[in-house]
Amino acid sequence: MINRERLFATFMELCSIDSEPTRERQMADNVRERLEKLGFSVSEDGVGDMIGGNAGNLVARLDGSEAGAPLLFSCHLDRVVPGVGVKPRIEGDFIVSDGTTVLGADDAAGLAALLEGVATLRERGIPHPPLEIVLSVAEELALVGSRHFDSGQLTARSGFVLDAAGKVGEIVIQAPEQQKFKAVFHGRSAHAGFDPEQGASAIQMAGVAISRMQLLRIDPETTANIGSISASGPTNIVPERCELLGEVRSLDPEKVRIQLDALTGTMESAAAEYGGSVEIAVMPCYPSYKLAEDTEPARRAARAALRIGVPVLFRPSGGGSDANIFNSRGLQTVVLCCGYEQAHTSGERIPLEQLELLTEWVVAIVSEGSDKNR
Ligand SMILES: [Zn+2]
Repeated sequence: MINRERLFATFMELCSIDSEPTRERQMADNVRERLEKLGFSVSEDGVGDMIGGNAGNLVARLDGSEAGAPLLFSCHLDRVVPGVGVKPRIEGDFIVSDGTTVLGADDAAGLAALLEGVATLRERGIPHPPLEIVLSVAEELALVGSRHFDSGQLTARSGFVLDAAGKVGEIVIQAPEQQKFKAVFHGRSAHAGFDPEQGASAIQMAGVAISRMQLLRIDPETTANIGSISASGPTNIVPERCELLGEVRSLDPEKVRIQLDALTGTMESAAAEYGGSVEIAVMPCYPSYKLAEDTEPARRAARAALRIGVPVLFRPSGGGSDANIFNSRGLQTVVLCCGYEQAHTSGERIPLEQLELLTEWVVAIVSEGSDKNR
């Protein structure tokens, strides 16, 4: 039913557009023009200016060709670094990059499937309810674009975010809360050779603290990581400052609290033992969500998956997406897995078949009668 050649061409063109976080201008303009050609009215918010970017979030609306509750679809316009100068090509059954950059299937697969899906609906005269599309910026910077998005302008009450690795047919109904933290250890400088007894090493405090931390996989639903440690100086001075950046995630918000308390306690005691102190700032990134399998978007996505002949799997995710933000604002939203593999690496790729299935899934979700009609 879909036009596969056009789908692959759109996908590869989108991949080849430079679109690292806060630098989505070209991508926003390209996608906007495509949406307008499909009949959408498109607006851009002012979030670009607020976050130091060169493009805002796009909101596109298309009237329904039949009555029905409006549906929200959402993707993000940016991609992780290195995402400039992407050269996508077909290799066997896959689309890949040249290995020096990511491919950007995360999230161009979602964008291309949405665009081709809507084109198919229009060309085939398939009835559809009103559609709202939100295309966010800087999603890869801990959802900063959607966090600043005014979701009060949306009328949809069910949403589908096309933004997860995994096979088409897999539906994410649960995702973790994430909190980041920054810890600055303060020691005391002294000459490292003459009188180190007068000093207190901030690097030593941080090192001891890290060695005592429980990190990485804490339990099946909780993780913690230190992503950065920075301090620099000459070897003949006891270092007075060392900074750590880390994060904690859990599907259970209470466990985020417990883990952060444990990390904080560990850092404070290590700092005190070695004669210094530590300043810790916790930065909430996004809240968790958990939807039941019988919520409207989950059921609708599942029925549509069965219709296109792929197995349905409801599952949690270890990562956040714009669905965390929509759900926190009362808009029930699931994440559709897009079929791409090894996202966020230069080995990122997508099977041609998965890209086609993703598009068919979009068409099936939109043209699926809502629960009310059954
Ligand atoms: Zn993504």
